[in-house]
Amino acid sequence: MINPYQYIQEEPYPLYINGEFVPSASGETAPAINPVNNQVFASIYQGGREDVMKAIAAARDAFDNGPWGKMTHFQRSNLLLKARDLLAERQNEFACVETLDCGKVFPSVLYYELPQALDALQYFAGKARSGLEGQVVPVDGGGRYLNYVTWEPCGVVGEILPWNGPLMMGCQKIAAILAAGNTVVVKPSSWAALSMLKLAEVFHDAGFPPGAVNVVTGPGALVGDLLVKSKDVDMVSLTGGTETGKQIIESSAATVKHLALELGGKSPNIIFDDVDVENAAKWALWGFTLNSGQVCVSGTRILVQESIYERFLETLVDLCQHFKLGDGFDFQNGVNFGPLISKEHFQTVLGYIEKGKAEGARLVAGGSPASGKLAEGNFIPPTIFADVTPEMTIFREEIFGPVACVSPFATEEEAIHLANAVDFGLAGAVFTENVRRALRVAAKINGGQIYVNTYFSKGMIESPGTGWKQSGLGVAGIHKYMRSKTTFVELGDGVEPPM
Ligand code: NAD
Repeated sequence: MINPYQYIQEEPYPLYINGEFVPSASGETAPAINPVNNQVFASIYQGGREDVMKAIAAARDAFDNGPWGKMTHFQRSNLLLKARDLLAERQNEFACVETLDCGKVFPSVLYYELPQALDALQYFAGKARSGLEGQVVPVDGGGRYLNYVTWEPCGVVGEILPWNGPLMMGCQKIAAILAAGNTVVVKPSSWAALSMLKLAEVFHDAGFPPGAVNVVTGPGALVGDLLVKSKDVDMVSLTGGTETGKQIIESSAATVKHLALELGGKSPNIIFDDVDVENAAKWALWGFTLNSGQVCVSGTRILVQESIYERFLETLVDLCQHFKLGDGFDFQNGVNFGPLISKEHFQTVLGYIEKGKAEGARLVAGGSPASGKLAEGNFIPPTIFADVTPEMTIFREEIFGPVACVSPFATEEEAIHLANAVDFGLAGAVFTENVRRALRVAAKINGGQIYVNTYFSKGMIESPGTGWKQSGLGVAGIHKYMRSKTTFVELGDGVEPPM
């Protein structure tokens, strides 16, 4: 088995502020805990008010006075490419650290999340050169006017990250923020901060100037909140839960902060009766179990047409045998399913499972924590509830664990009604051989990202989904981190105002 501890340093991981690796001002540290056994394996400095204020000031100065704010797009692009190359050289190390910190399965980090992180750095390096152009917009008045739109960086961006894929998502966001010309203060989740603290080393070694990238750990309610409330932060981008998004909307009101919120989901996966049941069930399983169900766009509400309902359920339950729970580094012995991120989150997910039972849903798979040696960690096997109705809590609320709710439907109209009967609108899927029906239903699902006869998208950065309803706020892509400016020019000499 791989020894990931060879990459773990003994001293606490420092914050990264203004181009320097520093302890927190208070000297406080927090443990990094392995979700496989809840053992502390490293420690990180815990940021506070003084640290975040320093980081904001550094980011402000680097944006307003340079060097970052005064660099050309080409220079920024080259630095992003350099960071990509340095991360590629250290991919085994980063994959080990991310696996340990988040309880992931090692190959899923090394062969999926890490390549996505590298690709984001490369993709946005390209965007820094050719994705920022504006537009000349014709207006009434013939050739008398020049009316053009340019895109400019927002300024200082506070990037607040979740724990479910910090390296991949962190690189996707940070690369876009930097490519757009902003500076950034990154606030990783307290449950999985290591990969972002280490990523600072990559930006440092690549030669990013002081203040361009800063990483400050600490509690969301303190460090995150200071970013949201600071007048010197022009924009806050959050990937996190809907309740956190709502709090940020409230606390950002005083500064009318530019916000981008990528929030929670409870996505429907609609299975019509003309499908290959085995194949659709495999996709449905994949859709709610990837990363042990800790994926925002997970297809956790599986809606199945009546005539194949019981057969589909049986197949889905049988397929759960495919999983072997354990330490993600033990993949050579077949382990392919990791634990939940923390004891606290494990308890939350178990609480939802109990609620599902109490509210009368039919438990057909899983439903209790793993036992024996695995009980040291936060393991919950794939859990499936059948006959779930829209009134039940487990149908409406995001669980963020490997728990699927299966419900029957009779007609296409009923499927669409059920699909849209929640407050979220992040993603959705439809399985059918009928292309007209597939496109009709895809168009009617309330969600920013829809899959047809598949689950999950390969174009996360090329065509990102935006959250509808309570799943998010803000446009997608690099323009999310930019502001438009329209300039209107009178080209005629000595033209008088029309008064
Ligand atoms: P969370 O909302 O608990 O925390 C996210 C981040 O916000 C953390 O860094 C946290 O410290 C910070 N935070 C908490 N309270 C804050 C406050 N008051 N002010 C500022 N910052 C604050 O989410 P999580 O548990 O880390 O992640 C899981 C959630 O993220 C799920 O709901 C999931 O659906 C969502 N998510 C969404 C997407 C997407 O693209 N839509 C992607 C991944 C995860």
